[in-house]
Amino acid sequence: METDRYLIDFDTKDIEKQCYDVVIIGSGIAGVYTALEIPKDYNVLILTKETIEISNSVLAQGGIAVSLDKDDSPGLHFKDTIKAGAGLCNEESVWVLVNEAAQNIETLCEYGVEFDKEGINRLSLTREGAHSKRRIIHAGDTTGKEVCDKLVSVVRTKENVKIKERTFAVDLITEGDACKGVLAYDEDTSSYILYLSKMVICATGGFSKLYSYTTNPEVATGDGAALAYRAGAELMDLEFIQFHPTVLFHPENKSFLISEAVRGEGAYLRNVNGEKFMPQYHELAELAPRDIVSRAIFNEMQKTKSSNVYLDITFKDKEYLQKRFPKIYETCLSYGIDMSKDYIPVAPAAHYCMGGIKTDIYGRTNIKGLYACGEAACNGIHGANRLASNSLLEGLVFGRKIGFEVQSVIKKGKEPLEFNDFSVKSKRVSKAINKEEVKSEIQNIMTKYVGIIRDRGGLLYAKDKINEYYNAVKDMENHGIEDFELQNIILLSKLVVESALEREESRGAHYRMDFPETNDVKWKKNIIKSKK
Ligand SMILES: Cc1cc2nc3c(=O)[nH]c(=O)nc-3n(C[C@H](O)[C@H](O)[C@H](O)COP(=O)(O)OP(=O)(O)OC[C@H]3O[C@@H](n4cnc5c(N)ncnc54)[C@H](O)[C@@H]3O)c2cc1C
Repeated sequence: METDRYLIDFDTKDIEKQCYDVVIIGSGIAGVYTALEIPKDYNVLILTKETIEISNSVLAQGGIAVSLDKDDSPGLHFKDTIKAGAGLCNEESVWVLVNEAAQNIETLCEYGVEFDKEGINRLSLTREGAHSKRRIIHAGDTTGKEVCDKLVSVVRTKENVKIKERTFAVDLITEGDACKGVLAYDEDTSSYILYLSKMVICATGGFSKLYSYTTNPEVATGDGAALAYRAGAELMDLEFIQFHPTVLFHPENKSFLISEAVRGEGAYLRNVNGEKFMPQYHELAELAPRDIVSRAIFNEMQKTKSSNVYLDITFKDKEYLQKRFPKIYETCLSYGIDMSKDYIPVAPAAHYCMGGIKTDIYGRTNIKGLYACGEAACNGIHGANRLASNSLLEGLVFGRKIGFEVQSVIKKGKEPLEFNDFSVKSKRVSKAINKEEVKSEIQNIMTKYVGIIRDRGGLLYAKDKINEYYNAVKDMENHGIEDFELQNIILLSKLVVESALEREESRGAHYRMDFPETNDVKWKKNIIKSKK
């Protein structure tokens, strides 16, 4: 068998097997909420490669977008989302997102999530970039943690849901055109387990760890997109990577996010000469869409030959900042920055992947039995650029859709899962490769040539270099998580570069210096990657 299908050789007869109705890969908001939405007579397994609380979701600060204000409406939320998406949003998906937002937030409140309030019952709303209204609900500046803590504590009480931590999904098991389960690696016992099921839900998050500087945790290596691709799934919009404009730039920390909500509360960006610059770039100034703010910062950094700019919220007093942004205040202070007195040094970093496994609004992929939701999925709600605070929401809304879908896909007591044992033998060989070095080299290439500003020369260089690494590791024997992640990072980097090279225009988060205009005639379409 070719080495591009499975990362390891195996014989299913020799591997321990366990059966579940549904296997969910990932324990972020999308994975855990989906598990809670599946009726309790279905048994569900959540696999997660680290402990349950390690995810992007836990780190989310700003909040969740939902139109609750009397001046706001799903229609206005729709309009803002479509505008940010720069012509590539799927309108059907966006309507579902905005129309079903409030009902899912209600469910979160029923699970005990405590959002900040104004008065007794009204949720407090703030504004973020490119939103025309105040519609971001939040729990201080640790919204993700509040939501995840509550969801995890509820899911732990569910008898039908089993959680398996430190277990890495290596590959999907397919038979013909159907997904039959997940081949996973148990880190504690260093052994493989085959989890068989009629439905596999990929909720593995994004792949910002393709870049050297990112707000994402170590787990964001795009395993879900890579294993789905190897199994024949279609991936879409991979070239659109959102760089968050304001990530702390300190010698000891270059990944801590300074939430957009800080700009929402009026903070200014200043270059290293202390000059405000955003009004020259966009009428919404600091609250322009993220791609525009990131490029403006990049420009100012180049103009002033510096590695960062500053965020200035010194006009707010200390008590206010401590209350509104406790985590940001405390973290900055731990690096000697008192945000009520000092400018915060910031620079852009990879933050969110608009692209992923192509799905419809029910989370269905082109492989029978394989579903995806959350950041791992791409159903077109973000188009070429995600509107701030729409991604926690996406995990909820489309997680619920899959939860409903389970009942129509799996009729309890009928049609047991059929599975025929098989073996995989490929021509893998043992190789002495310095994996840490290769990973870091790939991340540098992606940051330098496939980052905020791209051009054909840089992309071609990146493509050649990444292909060299791809060819070097494609027949390598893989023995553990470090190897699996490296394979996934290289595969996805290759696909991101190919997509970025193909799209000869600038749109949303994809900016080509050699094609600075948007070209609707040629490029108002999605780029899809699949093995076929
Ligand atoms: C610092 C930061 C701040 C943010 N702030 C906001 C915000 O305010 N509002 C907003 O809407 N969005 C925000 N985002 C984006 C948002 O947090 C993410 O898009 C969202 O949480 C993704 O959720 P998810 O469940 O799809 O994936 P994740 O939360 O990333 O979870 C993925 C899970 O999959 C597991 N996993 C991955 N690969 C494997 C594998 N091979 N085997 C087993 N398990 C695996 C991971 O361990 C993890 O548990 C922020 C992101 C960051 C990084």
